[in-house]
This record gives sequence, structure tokens and C-alpha cells, in this order.
Amino acid sequence: MTVDLASRRPPTRPSDALVLASSLTRDYPSGEGVVHALRNVDLAVGHGQLVAVRGRSGSGKTTLLNLLGGLDRPTSGSVVVDGDEISAMDEGRLVEIRRRTIAFIFQSFGLVPILTAAENVEVPLRLVRTEPGARDRRVEELLEIVGLHERARHRPHELSGGEQQRVAIARALANRPKLLLADEPTGQLDSETGHRIMLVLRQVVRAEGITAVVATHDPLMMDVADRVVELHDGTLVER
Ligand code: ADP
Ligand code: MG
Repeated sequence: MTVDLASRRPPTRPSDALVLASSLTRDYPSGEGVVHALRNVDLAVGHGQLVAVRGRSGSGKTTLLNLLGGLDRPTSGSVVVDGDEISAMDEGRLVEIRRRTIAFIFQSFGLVPILTAAENVEVPLRLVRTEPGARDRRVEELLEIVGLHERARHRPHELSGGEQQRVAIARALANRPKLLLADEPTGQLDSETGHRIMLVLRQVVRAEGITAVVATHDPLMMDVADRVVELHDGTLVER
């Protein structure tokens, strides 16, 4: 069953949405034919909502997140985040948006191995030239929020998978993004650690007042999300 925009749970008006995807379609050429990775997806995400996107492998979750974050462009349709049409921006503006407005977390953590936890979190602050005092305070605050204060001077290889993902979450939040996109953030973690990461995500969304879209097939995420949508072969269904 495909549900249209008007019947979705909050936001009820487009102006209440931080993220507004309309008729999103993404086709990939494949050999002779074409793969329909996303088909006419409409999705409105309200300010402060934590939305879980579930669906089997190959259902289009990564494609959707990449389009919402401007890492990829739709074949047709549009993505508006905080009033800006991401899907129509040039690369220069997208770089700026990804530094300040939209942050990503991936299954693979993506930390810089030679940097300590604190230095990894500091990278995005340096990119926007935050002055050193404010930078140090923000790093400390973020490591506190994700419960890693004691590990600040450790390098990624000295941290467990769950701790590395906490560093990645802290780094993603550094510049106070409005939108956090997480693509299977617990995919490499055991279920116990994964659940704790979900709770950390839940907590940071509240503490920092941000909006998050999390792709996962972890059933535990369904308990911490405000709302669950599901992809079936590129078609979005409200749960
Ligand atoms: P999920 O993240 O849910 O596993 P994806 O968004 O990665 O799903 O993939 C959706 C569909 O699009 C799959 O059939 C996949 O094979 C296809 N696909 C994804 N990326 C590409 C690509 N770069 N080129 C061709 N096909 C792709
Ligand atoms: Mg994926």
C-alpha cells in the first residue's frame, strides 16, 4: 500500500517539514536495461523527528539517503531541505550544505585512523574555521554527549566498534547540522552494541534538537524511532 503525503503522520503541512522529497525517482542504467532504485517517493520529515527507513538489502535505502543528502541526484523529482532545493544545487553549494546543514553517519564509521577521537570530532570545526577555544569546548561537549569523554586521546584502532561509531556521531554533530542521515549505523555492530548506538542517536536528536533519517534493518530501531517508513523495491510505504 502506498500512502500519499497528506495522510502521513506529522508533518501535516509542507511548511512544517525540514525535509520534503517529492516524486523522487532514481534509475540506474544496468547492462541493457535499467534498475528502478527509487520510484516516485514522497517523504516529508518534520522538524525534530527521528525517522527509521527499513527495507531489505537492495530496496533503495542508501539511494534515498544519498539523494536526501545531495550525494547523488534524482533522475526526476526534487529534494528540499530547510527550504533549499538540494536536488538543484551546484557542487560548490552542496559542499557548503554538507559542512553545515546535513551530516552523514555510515556503517563503516569513516574515522581518520591517525587522529585521536577528539581530533576526529574537531575536523568539521576546522573546515568551517571555528576559533580554537570554541572548537575545544564543542569537542568536549560532544564527547560528553556520546559518553566518550575518557577516550578523547585514543585513536580509532584503540576503540571498540561501538566507541568508534560514537566518535562518528559526535563528529557528524560538530557543526550543529539540522539533518542527520545515518545509513545502517549499526550494521557492523553486535546487537547489544547496536541497540546502545540507537539510544545514543535517540538522545542526540533530542539534546541537539536535530532531525534524523536512519536506514536500518535492525528491529530495535523501530522502538526508538518516532516513525517508521519502509521501502519495497524502491516504493515507500508508511508503517
Ligand atoms: P539498499 O541500501 O536498501 O540495500 P540501494 O539503494 O543500495 O539499496 O540499492 C537499490 C537498488 O539500486 C539495488 O537494486 C541496487 O543494486 C541498485 N543500485 C544501487 N546503486 C547502484 C549503482 N551505482 N549502479 C547501478 N545500480 C545500483
Ligand atoms: Mg544500503
